[in-house]
Amino acid sequence: MSSNSSSIADRLLDIQAQLPPHVTLVAVSKTKPAHAITEALAAGQLDFGENRVQELVEKAERLANERIKWHHIGHLQTNKVKFIIPHVHLVHAVDSQRLLEEINRRSIQMNQTTDVLLQMHIAQESTKYGWSDEEMEQFMDGNPLPQYPSVRVRGLMGMATFTDDHQQVASEFKKLKATYDRWKESHPEWDTLSMGMSGDWQLAVDAGSTMVRIGSSIFGER
Ligand SMILES: *Cc1c(COP(=O)(O)O)cnc(C)c1O
Repeated sequence: MSSNSSSIADRLLDIQAQLPPHVTLVAVSKTKPAHAITEALAAGQLDFGENRVQELVEKAERLANERIKWHHIGHLQTNKVKFIIPHVHLVHAVDSQRLLEEINRRSIQMNQTTDVLLQMHIAQESTKYGWSDEEMEQFMDGNPLPQYPSVRVRGLMGMATFTDDHQQVASEFKKLKATYDRWKESHPEWDTLSMGMSGDWQLAVDAGSTMVRIGSSIFGER
């Protein structure tokens, strides 16, 4: 996926040049060493994604750079929420009411507001986390978000099926965009639709993504 002759900076700039200006690039640095992040930083990249709490916290403390925006992008266990709150810019994968409650509780304790996305289940694989349309419908019925005053929901996140079938992936992204647009009508403050990874970000952007999470195409295979 990544050619050996190009640098992290080259690959970042190449992707940035293809992204419309309203799409934020989150460079997914999971499993990669701190010096890879430093290299990306030097190329102007400030948004970084990690999927392990301990790794995110270690890197945040080690790099100690106020300009870095740390994104937690994977499944988050409720018992790890307290560790991540002081460091995280955006939690992408809130997939249950219990997690939302815990993020709110810990945010209140730490006297801050935490930005999050709700993760929708859009893929065919049954292993991926996230709300179904029906579960989202049930949850949102009755306007629950004001019950979590220290959490600011900014929009939705989703992962498409891991397949070469572009039509399938495109249709999953379009469906997520339609769900996002629908809930955004009653939540005009929503501004973020996180979808698209190394293998499918062009399809996601075409479908209306505002934030892509790209790892291996920038940092090389894991
Ligand atoms: C690892 C990961 C990515 C990035 O995957 P690549 O294929 O390396 O771009 C994006 N989103 C989530 C949730 C991930 O866990």
